[in-house]
Amino acid sequence: MTWSIKILRAGTMRLDGGGMFGVVPKTMWERLSKPDEHNRILLQTNCLLLEQGGTKVLVETGCGSKWSKKEREIYAIEDRTVVDALHEENIDPSEISHVVVSHLHFDHAGGLTTLNKDCPVPTFPNAAVHVQAQEWADANQNRAVMTRTYLPTHLEPIVSQVKTHTEASTILEGLTVASAPGHTWGQQAIHITAPNGQVVFPADVVPTIHHAPPAFVMAYDIEPYTAMQTKINVLTQAAEQGWTIALGHEPGPVLVKAESDPERPERRRLVPCQ
Ligand SMILES: [Zn+2]
Repeated sequence: MTWSIKILRAGTMRLDGGGMFGVVPKTMWERLSKPDEHNRILLQTNCLLLEQGGTKVLVETGCGSKWSKKEREIYAIEDRTVVDALHEENIDPSEISHVVVSHLHFDHAGGLTTLNKDCPVPTFPNAAVHVQAQEWADANQNRAVMTRTYLPTHLEPIVSQVKTHTEASTILEGLTVASAPGHTWGQQAIHITAPNGQVVFPADVVPTIHHAPPAFVMAYDIEPYTAMQTKINVLTQAAEQGWTIALGHEPGPVLVKAESDPERPERRRLVPCQ
């Protein structure tokens, strides 16, 4: 049994380019991703809709819609959500039975809740929400290098829906999660068996097509060195096994393959799927 995969673009945002590339000098990253006048680079919040039989699963939820005008300006958050993307596929959020989130930062978990009048309520009322136990604990304790990324309005309304996982586990046949630490201690990668082979969604281990080199990790990472090791492992496995990689924040091509760089064989580069 395999899952059909549809890429849902849940809205663009912009984050500081230095934040997104960590220790990489601006003279290097600005050639790859051009910053705007506020030094911000364009990012997408990519989600995946998985379908098998009548079962509909959502991977990631994007930023959602609960943002003030000022917050939208700071991050250039587009007025578009994963619900808009689902409606374009004629799917109502109530039809989603499982939501898998890589971690609970605002740009991944914000879409879990929606304002009803001024009260945050679950966006996917009939879904189990799958997250690592470590991530759920850290989010509720606000253990992050950013002070306003684990927000109670994203978390408290969904408490009864949460299903926590430890390390690797199977959610449904052909859909598994595995610990991918570094960006957060409790981040998980999502592995999907699709008609054309295995697909991995490594989330903020490899946010864009320009983040393949090991040292290109974010300043937001809780453990940058661990993030590098996780990335090397994921890209090595992807290259050796022929997995397709689905990129979480890439505004361009979302599905890529990891290939050896002929000039530096120990490194991988990401090449868009045809
Ligand atoms: Zn992110």
